[in-house]
Formats: sequence, C-alpha cells, structure tokens
Amino acid sequence: MSATVLHYKSNLRDVYFNLFEVLDIERTTLGRAPFVSMDGSTARDALKQLATLAETEIAPSFADTDRTPLTLDADGNVHLPESLKKSMKAWWDGSWHLFEVPEHIGGFGAPPTIWWSAFEMIAGAHASFAFYTFGSFVARVIDHLGTDAQKRRFVQPMLDGRWGGTMVLTEPDAGSDVGAARAKARPMGDGLWEIEGTKRFITNGDFDSVDNIVHLVLARPEGAGPGTKGLSMFIVPKWWVAEDGTMTTERNGVYCTNIEKKMGIKGSSTCELTFGEKQPARGFLVGEAHDGIRQMFRVIEQARMAVGVKSMATLSTAYLNALAYTKERVQGGDLLRVNEKASPRVRIIDHPDVRRMLMSQKAFAEGLRALALYAASIQDQVEILGGHGAKEAEPLERLNDLLLPLVKGYGSEKVYELLSVSLQCFGGSGYCQDYPIEQYIRDQKIDSLYEGTTHIQAQDLFFRKVARDGGATLRGLLGEVQRTISTDLAGDALAVERQALERASADLQGIYGAMLPKMQASLYHVGFQANRVLSATGELVIGWRLCVQAAIAQRKLATATGKDVDFYTGKLAAVRWYCQNVLPGLTLTRKLVEAGTLELMDVPEAAF
Ligand SMILES: Cc1cc2nc3c(=O)[nH]c(=O)nc-3n(C[C@H](O)[C@H](O)[C@H](O)COP(=O)(O)OP(=O)(O)OC[C@H]3O[C@@H](n4cnc5c(N)ncnc54)[C@H](O)[C@@H]3O)c2cc1C
Repeated sequence: MSATVLHYKSNLRDVYFNLFEVLDIERTTLGRAPFVSMDGSTARDALKQLATLAETEIAPSFADTDRTPLTLDADGNVHLPESLKKSMKAWWDGSWHLFEVPEHIGGFGAPPTIWWSAFEMIAGAHASFAFYTFGSFVARVIDHLGTDAQKRRFVQPMLDGRWGGTMVLTEPDAGSDVGAARAKARPMGDGLWEIEGTKRFITNGDFDSVDNIVHLVLARPEGAGPGTKGLSMFIVPKWWVAEDGTMTTERNGVYCTNIEKKMGIKGSSTCELTFGEKQPARGFLVGEAHDGIRQMFRVIEQARMAVGVKSMATLSTAYLNALAYTKERVQGGDLLRVNEKASPRVRIIDHPDVRRMLMSQKAFAEGLRALALYAASIQDQVEILGGHGAKEAEPLERLNDLLLPLVKGYGSEKVYELLSVSLQCFGGSGYCQDYPIEQYIRDQKIDSLYEGTTHIQAQDLFFRKVARDGGATLRGLLGEVQRTISTDLAGDALAVERQALERASADLQGIYGAMLPKMQASLYHVGFQANRVLSATGELVIGWRLCVQAAIAQRKLATATGKDVDFYTGKLAAVRWYCQNVLPGLTLTRKLVEAGTLELMDVPEAAF
C-alpha cells in the first residue's frame, strides 16, 4: 500500500502530556461547569478513538481527494469524490459532529482543549476533510447570537441533519479589506432580507453528501455606511427552512457559480457564490442588531485557531513520517569514518545534518502544539468564567486574543518553512507522490493566506492586541514567563535554558520598546517590522511553553520507566535545541528592529 494512503501519524502521547501532565485539565477544566460530564478517562478514550478514526477512516481519502477533481453540475451543485464521502460517513456514524457541541443543545460538550486536540488529528489526517466539520460550529454561532425564532429554525435541524456551514466574507475586490464588500441586503418585512452580490473563495460553498448548507453572510443593508461598520451578518440557507426547522423543497437563490482550481486542499470545495441572480436569496439578520463584523469575529477567531492547529498538525505528521523514513533509509557512511571506503553504510538518521533537520521539526511541532493547547486552556477558562463577553472572563479573553495571531500567523509561516525541511529528509523521494510530504506542503500553504494573511495577523497583534491596551496583556504574559524563569527553571538542571529564556524575554521587551518611538515617527515602521515582531513574540512564547514542559519532564524522568524515559528525554532534548538555536535569534531581531529605516518607501517604483 502506498505511504500516502495510511499516511497519518498521530502523536497521542504528546497530546496527553500537554493535557494531563502540563495543563492538568482534570483539575482545571474537566468536571467544572459547563464541562461537568466529561472526565479524564472519557476524554482519553475519546481522543484514542479519534486517533484510530483519523488514521484508518479519514486518512485513506487524503491522496484520492487530491487526485480526483470535484465537479460542478448545471444546477450549481458540487460533487465530492466517493472516498471523501466515505470518510465523512465514518465521522457522522460515530456522531463526532456533536463532540464539540455544548450539552444544552444535545452535544457531548468537549471543552476547547479536548476539541482542538481532536481537530489536530482530523486536520492532520486530511485537511480538506476537516473543513466539512464546520457546520457544527455554525450551529453553535446561531445558538449564541440568534433570536429564539432563529435558533428554533436552524440550530437543532443543523445538528440533527448534519448540515454544512460556511462563513461568507470575501469578494473579488474585498479580500484583506473586508470593509470594501459590496454585497447588498434589502429588507423585505417579517424579518426577511434579500441578499444580492458575488462572493469569492468560499470554503464549503456547496457540496453534496449533506442535505442543506447554512451560510453566514456579511452584506451591507441598503443605506448603511461604508467600511466594516456598515456590514451585517445574515443566515442564508441553500434550501429554505420552515419556521419549525423543517427543510422544504424550495431552492433559495444562492448558487455556486465556479469552483476554484487550487494548489492544494483540492478536496475542499472553494466556491464563487452568487446571491440573488437566478432567484431571490432570502435570509435573516443574525440577532436583532446590525453588528455584522463584531459577530463575524466570533467565527473568524474560531477559524484562525483551526488554521493554526491545522498547520501544527501537518508539521507533526510530516515530522513523524520523516522520522520513520530516516530510520530505514541507508545511505553513506559515518562522517567520522569518511576516509574509509569500506566503512559500513548507515541509516540516514545517523548523519548529523539529518538529526538537525529532525530536531528542528520535532521542537517546533511540539512547541506549536504546546502553544495551541495553552491557548485552548485559556479558552476553557473563559467558558468556565461565563463565556465570551462575561465580565470576569475579560482578562483571559484578551490573553486568548493575543495568542491567536501567534497560533495562526506565526504557526502557519513557520510550518511552511519546516515542511520543506521534512521533504529534504526524504531526498528525491520526498518530491514524489509516493510519500505524503509534497501534498502536505501544497495543502498547508493556504494557512498563511486565508483568515487574514500573515501581515494582517502581524498588524492585528501589534495594533489591536498589544498597543490598544497599552501593552497590559503582553506585560501580564511576560510576567508569567518571568515566574517560570524564577521558579520552574531554578536550580542547575535547566540553567542554560533559564538564561536563554531570560535573555529572549529581555530582547522581546527591547523590540516592543524600540517600536514605540518608531511608531510615533511613522506607521510605515510598523508595516516594515510587524512580521518580525510577530515572529519574535511567537518564538518567545513557544520557548516559554517548552521550558515549562522541560521542567515537568525533568522531574518525571527521575522515576520514569519504559517508553516514558524516551519521551521525557526527547522533551528535554527538544527544549535544549530550541534554547540554543531559536531563542538567541531574538537578539538579532532586536538589532534589526532597532536599526530599521524607511528608505524602502523612497525607492522609485520603476526601480523594483
Ligand atoms: C482556499 C481558500 C479558501 C478560502 N475560504 C474563505 C471562506 O470560507 N470565506 C471567506 O470569506 N473567504 C475565504 N477565503 C478568502 C481569504 O480569506 C482571502 O483570500 C484572504 O483574506 C486574502 O485576501 P486576498 O486573497 O484578496 O488577498 P489581498 O488582500 O489582495 O492580499 C494580497 C497581498 O497584499 C497584502 N496586503 C493586503 N492588504 C494589505 C494592507 N492593508 N497592508 C499590508 N499588506 C496588505 C496581503 O498581506 C497579501 O500579501 C479563502 C481563500 C482561499 C484561497
């Protein structure tokens, strides 16, 4: 069987380490409202079952979906390859679409830490497949923001009927600049609106294997002002839904008019959607307020987290595939015996450069998982403190907001860079479709583009997450880093790591300090430096989480037996590598930021 069919390798041991040994969710999350009915052993079992499902039912459609194009029929219906539908059936047959759904609407109520661990496995096994699980989240959004009538009409039917869901923002002339959207909404009375316009690049825009699709659409009510503030969010179903939630045979006027032909995630249906051309596209204003962009941000934040987790998941399985290959492939002799023609040939994992490549993937795959699950643990606490918007949860919501551009923006860029290192481990074989890496690269590249390009993430971090609250949330986070330095890393065992983290933390503060006067001199400085600031912040926070893990691994190693000895030894090796090879880079970043000029803006366009 080709290596691409059962390509997916999960890392349940590291997921459990994060959840139960580092974040200690049995004490901090599970059993506490609203997560009362999930305990540690249920969570472990569920994740174990999901790992098996991902490896044996979801992964097999990964390559086939890449090679079998989706088709669009004359009625605007998109047809998926049979292999993908088979994977989706396995997902639904196990009722996994209810896993993340809160108990009050009939779900299993998995907290964010558990859900994102689950999502890692399905996105790592088959990224295109993972998008089709979005319907459950759209049902949750309507449950959170909709009126009672909207909830009756959509929430339970979507969950019971396993309908699809989308988020519809982008237009041909409104990409990063969402506020340039032109799609219009006209009130028709009785709470109904008609939407007109063309949207582009819409994931899940249309696909068969579900009975209905519910679109969350940003459009501008007639007479509303320009920019994002004039946008409202509407619920627009593909097939009309009666007041009591029954799906009718009346086709609503939203049609897929083109499927994009893409570099990767070819199994994901990316559609041009046309509203109100053939017949009226009717919909409901979400809630009662014209508050579209703020409402859509709930969806965008979830999607950003999903994209960051998808990237991390891809690096993790790429690393584990590369590791397996380098343990088998024999090539060349030991470097120390380079002059002996007859020296035994060795497996390539014995070459120092291959070890360097493996460790860079391992440290970042585990570091990015540590970062994502740390953010997820903050999301758990937000829910426990009353959820989005609750007064008590505000500081933690701000911390989660600050972490999201790191998870998504930094994570997706770093993973793209490292997937080429994964491929390098395979030599020429990695370039061929016999192994999954070339598809991993094509499927992952999108992560630095959608849900806000990397620079949009970098600006978001700098302006909205740091500058807007005068740096208070960032200072709080750096205070936590300092606590780790002075308590967890105390003593001799992790002295080198303590020093590296302390230095990097000081450099990051220096970077933000240098940006203040620059920002006052010209916002172009932010344009030039924001991606660097994003990277430096991401690298420091990952370094911190790895150091927290190292302190635990160090303690546990003393009494560990069997495979745990290897696991904790690997943890310590990864943090050592990271502290020696990544954190010192912040010193250079600081120098580059301090020395940054604006002269590039003066270079005449013709000189480019
Ligand atoms: C496969 C796929 C799936 C998608 N799914 C969805 C979906 O489900 N729903 C949806 O609504 N959209 C979706 N999108 C759209 C996606 O979110 C946009 O492509 C993305 O936001 C970037 O917009 P753009 O493509 O117009 O690029 P542009 O905005 O034109 O950006 C081009 C370049 O210019 C830079 N740039 C743009 N503006 C600025 C600025 N102000 N300052 C500095 N640099 C700037 C960008 O960083 C980027 O490097 C999807 C796209 C793809 C390809």
